[in-house]
Amino acid sequence: MSDIIVQKFGGTSVADTTKIKSVADAVIKEKELGNDVVVVVSAMGHTTDYLVKMAKEISEKPSAREMDMLLSTGEGVSIALLSMAIQEKGYQAISMNAMQIGIITESVHQKARIIDIKTDKLRKHLDDGKIIVVAGFQGVTEDGEITTLGRGGSDTSAVALAAALRAKRCDIYTDVEGVYTTDPRIVPCATRLKQVSYGEMLELARVGANVLHPRAVETADLSKIPIRVRSTFKLDNKGTLITGVENMEIELSQPVTGVASDLSQVRIVFCDIPDVPGNAAKLFGTLAKENISVDMIIQSYARTGNNTNDIAFTIDKADLTRTTQILESIREDLSAGAIHIDDNIAKVSIVGAGMVDRPGIAATMFETIAKMGVNIKMISTSEIKISCLVEKKDSDEAIKALHTIFNLDSDKIAVVKGDLPNI
Ligand code: ASP
Ligand code: MG
Repeated sequence: MSDIIVQKFGGTSVADTTKIKSVADAVIKEKELGNDVVVVVSAMGHTTDYLVKMAKEISEKPSAREMDMLLSTGEGVSIALLSMAIQEKGYQAISMNAMQIGIITESVHQKARIIDIKTDKLRKHLDDGKIIVVAGFQGVTEDGEITTLGRGGSDTSAVALAAALRAKRCDIYTDVEGVYTTDPRIVPCATRLKQVSYGEMLELARVGANVLHPRAVETADLSKIPIRVRSTFKLDNKGTLITGVENMEIELSQPVTGVASDLSQVRIVFCDIPDVPGNAAKLFGTLAKENISVDMIIQSYARTGNNTNDIAFTIDKADLTRTTQILESIREDLSAGAIHIDDNIAKVSIVGAGMVDRPGIAATMFETIAKMGVNIKMISTSEIKISCLVEKKDSDEAIKALHTIFNLDSDKIAVVKGDLPNI
């Protein structure tokens, strides 16, 4: 039995018919290596943005169901065209959408999670020697309703398909050459990583390294599918391999793997919440029920005499209107005070599997930011990540300084954590 390789091509890779023809070549190259190939594609170029724009011209708040009907059409175009391009080159191909395959999601519009993927039809087509071209980003509920997985969701479609088919690898083809230590548009001397662990990639994806959808990394981690991020336009370049930390050599001299900033969050401070059991549960429980993800959370120390806490937390900008409505609706019930919103924030983070149990790393980060005369508004840490909230205007400079201090600038660092294994 041949190995299955899942390939995913993003919108820039299929932006026009000439590019679609080159993608067909990359697909055929993989097939010629003797693999069974499943290809996942996004909508062409800026199609999805264009569809969103049209919807907004018609309605300020279009219904989520109709948005999914609309946005799912973009991928329908690219799968048919790519399948034709592959056929034109003399190979058998078939395009399939989520409904035809049975990519089953929960019943949530616009950010649905995949719960199951039916593989019987896929396996049959592969056995018949066909290359399958799958529409990314979309799913279908048990009742046959079309859903989408959230912007950038084709990555997740690809990894979930790879997991369901027990593929050997999932290759994410994009317009950059791999995963970098930070955004090369901000720090030109950023270095391409040869390998990065799922955990590090997840943190980097969450804090705004735009290469991969975080849920795709989570899915890969759970199913242990190796992901390779590589360039559509430089097929000989092996890109970055994302794999389990157990397959990597951690270099103690290199505790920080990457630096990233996220400008899409808003900080909310909910003041004077009575310091009694259950209030935080009520607050975050209500937000969770509405599907609003909360990122950093800080509860202040309850001073005697006052006996209330301020709770500060960050959310995605896109959830701001709904979040403030929810907070207003529970404010009386909690006997809480004012709500302050600060959208002039950037979350600057350092990530590295090698910083576990090394307190000096946090101190170096804070010192570096202090030396710039920049105020830190909030701090949060996990085992392999430290994040600081700063003002938006300070974000790029902080990223540059941290990149240098942690020895990530490309002229100084040997990022190579061992040779790339031949997966
Ligand atoms: N076409 C969708 C988007 O633009 C999905 C994707 O590209 O991954 O968000
Ligand atoms: Mg994308």
